[in-house]
Formats: sequence, C-alpha cells, structure tokens
Amino acid sequence: MKYIVVSGGVISGIGKGVIASSTGLLLKTLGLKVTAIKIDPYMNIDAGTMRPTEHGEVYVLNDGGEVDLDLGNYERYLDITLSRDNNITTGKIYREVIEKERKGEYLGKTVQIVPHVTNAIQDWIERVSKIPVDDSGEEPDVCIVELGGTVGDIESAPFVEAMRQFQFRVGHKNFALIHVSLVPEMHGEQKTKPTQTTIHSLRGLGLLADLIACRLLASEPLLPATKEKISMFCHVAAEQVFGVHNVSSVYHVPLLLQSQGILDYLRKRLDMDSVNITPDML
Ligand code: ADP
Repeated sequence: MKYIVVSGGVISGIGKGVIASSTGLLLKTLGLKVTAIKIDPYMNIDAGTMRPTEHGEVYVLNDGGEVDLDLGNYERYLDITLSRDNNITTGKIYREVIEKERKGEYLGKTVQIVPHVTNAIQDWIERVSKIPVDDSGEEPDVCIVELGGTVGDIESAPFVEAMRQFQFRVGHKNFALIHVSLVPEMHGEQKTKPTQTTIHSLRGLGLLADLIACRLLASEPLLPATKEKISMFCHVAAEQVFGVHNVSSVYHVPLLLQSQGILDYLRKRLDMDSVNITPDML
C-alpha cells in the first residue's frame, strides 16, 4: 500500500481537496486502485451537526455517514464508494481512545496524545486504507490522505505528528507528501516567502515535502524564476515544485499536474516502476 499525504500551509481553502482528488485520478489512469481518507481536525464526531453556512453542505455517503464535502470530490473524481470511516475527525479518534481507556485496554498506562492518540490515528488509516472501494472488491493500491486545516495549527498537531511517525511505520518507498502552499502576487511579482515559511515549519515538525504544489490565486501560471527560487530556498529540486493557477474548471487540475510530470515523479519516488503508463492515458 502506497500512501500519499496532502497537507496545506499558509491558508485553508486553497484547493488541497482538488489537488488530492486530481492526484488520485491520475494514479487511477495507471490502472491503480485508489482510495482516499480525509482528516478533519475538529472535535465534532462528524459534519452532521455543523451549520452549512459555516462549513458548507454536508455530504451524505451510501452508509449514511454525514461527512465533509471533500469526500464527494473523491467519490466523483475517483468513481469509488467511501464509508463514514474514510472521514477521520479529532472527535472520532478521541472517542475511540477514551472508550478503550474506560475498558481498561491500556492496562493501567497513562493515556497520552503521544503515543496513544497518534497510534490510534495511524491504526485507523492503515485499517481503512485496505477497505475495497470499487466493484472489484480488491484492496486498493494507493491511499490519498488529505490533512485538513493548515500545518502549524494546534488542532492538526497530533495528526502531523502521527504522519511523521507513519512515514517510518510504512517505509520511505510507501509514503510521499504533497504540501500545498500559497504563492501570492504583489506588484506583478510572485512571492515565495509564505512557501518558504510553511516548508520550514513543516521540516521543524519532521516532515519533508516531496512535492510542493504552489497555488496561485490568479490565472497566470507559476513562472520558471519563481519555481527556481522555491527550489533553492525550500530544499527541493525544481521538478518537485508544481504550479496550480486558477483554471476555469477544477477538472482541468489533473491535466495541469500531469503536464508538470507528477506521475513520473510519484512513480519513481514510490518505486512503482513496474506500473506501465499507457501513452494515451489522458
Ligand atoms: P481545501 O481542500 O484546501 O479547503 P478545496 O479543494 O475544497 O480547498 O478548494 C476550495 C475552492 O477552490 C473550491 O471551491 C474549488 O472549486 C476551488 N479551486 C480549487 N482549486 C482551484 C483551481 N486550480 N482553480 C480554480 N478554482 C479552484
């Protein structure tokens, strides 16, 4: 099982969900079976009790699970059927840990965020990623894990730490991280400082971005000079820096990522060379 974690920095709502879904869709064109998990670092058990004006419409899954809208993106982009467990929230993880504690399953130990909560997060991801999500009934090959919120928030800290541990649990060849950052434009210049700052804090938390997806809130693409600068200051090669500018339809985002070589990179990074790419797949 290969895991691709999609995290975000600087601000929320910049298109992490669309980038996560698009990456999954591209991997699916290689013939891989792809599943997805969304992490929402809030205390609510699910989105069912949240005001739609604040959170957006609740998306209802086939099993009745009331979840975040992003699960709808995954189902549509990837043509899969997800269950309520594909949406992890802080509330669900804490409930599980507290119920176990009440049953005495921690055998008298002090129950802590590290390792008990972080282990519960990792166990949940490993368990749910293996559940078949399409008609084949087979275990998926790749799991996209989207981490809601922004790295550096108090709320997402246990999940970020769980991901830091997870990269060692599953091994380097089975874990890649895409970090979505913002590249604002000021006076006609594409600014890289917010990206430098978020990559720096990500590194401080023990995670290295394999790909940096730079969201530009304009229709102008990422300039080669900006890409070079981000590569230089963020300790990645230029081919690991992707530009995602505003497009007229979010269904163009997979093409945008593929035109910058995302599949070639992920195949190499995740040791998936045995997978044949058919030249006319897109
Ligand atoms: P996040 O997961 O970071 O909260 P979403 O993926 O839900 O963000 O995207 C937020 C909004 O931005 C959505 O309405 C989506 O349609 C829009 N969006 C995302 N990427 C693009 C893009 N490249 N061009 C235009 N709109 C986009």
